[in-house]
Amino acid sequence: MKEKRPLIISGPCSAESEEQVLATAQALAATGKIDIFRAGVWKPRTKPGTFEGAGVEALPWLVKAREVTGLPMTTEVANAKHVESALEYDIDVLWIGARTAANPFSMQEVAEALRGTEKMVYVKNPVNSDVDLWCGAVERLAACGIKNLGLIHRGFSGFGAGPLRNAPMWHLAFEMRRRMPELPMICDPSHICGCRDYIAEVSQQAADLNYDGLMIESHINPAEAWSDAKQQLTPEAVATMLDSIKWRAGESNSESYKIALMGLREQIDSLDREILQLLSERMNVAEKIGRIKRENDVRILQAVRWEDIVERALARSKSLGLSEYFLRTVLDAIHIESIDRQNRVMNE
Ligand code: PEP
Ligand code: MN
Repeated sequence: MKEKRPLIISGPCSAESEEQVLATAQALAATGKIDIFRAGVWKPRTKPGTFEGAGVEALPWLVKAREVTGLPMTTEVANAKHVESALEYDIDVLWIGARTAANPFSMQEVAEALRGTEKMVYVKNPVNSDVDLWCGAVERLAACGIKNLGLIHRGFSGFGAGPLRNAPMWHLAFEMRRRMPELPMICDPSHICGCRDYIAEVSQQAADLNYDGLMIESHINPAEAWSDAKQQLTPEAVATMLDSIKWRAGESNSESYKIALMGLREQIDSLDREILQLLSERMNVAEKIGRIKRENDVRILQAVRWEDIVERALARSKSLGLSEYFLRTVLDAIHIESIDRQNRVMNE
């Protein structure tokens, strides 16, 4: 059984003033539930003309917050100059943001500026859903002798108008974990959700998916925050939410649990075999269609037919108990493979 205490990082999206930093840090420290205080000093904003962080001026506020609360501090660094300043103020832990992790030139610059540091450096997933790029960011740091590395999963942007700001795409985080199993991975539900309402739910999901901790944005007065106002919680709300999260065990030694699980897993294995067999048969039929299309000089893509298939499947989503998002994802994958198979037949 894996017993562990998750690492909890919390604090404002941006350091706005000394008062705001101190008030938030003190309120968080008073809960006794926070391990590290975060505050963004340099803010990579999507649009110009918005608050881009207080810059170096904010670093003494973090130092003061550390003195007053005893909490270690963390901030985001995005270029060599940021690193130099953060190291000068002995900021305890550093993180690389999602936009920086997506840019190999920036990553290289930051890695070289951090060369040999003993500090813990967390790397957020890049904004785009590219696990190789995330790995590359970590590898650049490792190549500069940075040994204390960790990962932060904050979701991926540009994935439609779902309720969440950044699609979690949990499978990509699992893949990253598989590739770098020795690195701790924490979840940033604030940037995944983009609004307060879902943070508890996503945090619980992260706990159940064996994450090593959480990074949660909090502000002494969230409604007035200068960045990410909709997703920040008050320190009290962070404490309440953390109390509500169950960090369950990885395994159980109960015999009845083991027997029940074994039976259900057998069912799953047998269903998976059937699904794969059916998919294989479906692709063989798609190939036959490809041959007929080739003989009749008809192109592969028949948009109306495909829309019809999707529509009929989605109409059944409720009675099947499957989400529309899931059905669409599965159907898209089937369609891509079908087209691929027909393509091969057409051009063989
Ligand atoms: C942040 O943590 O405030 C931030 C800018 O995050 P990300 O890089 O995940 O967008
Ligand atoms: Mn933020």
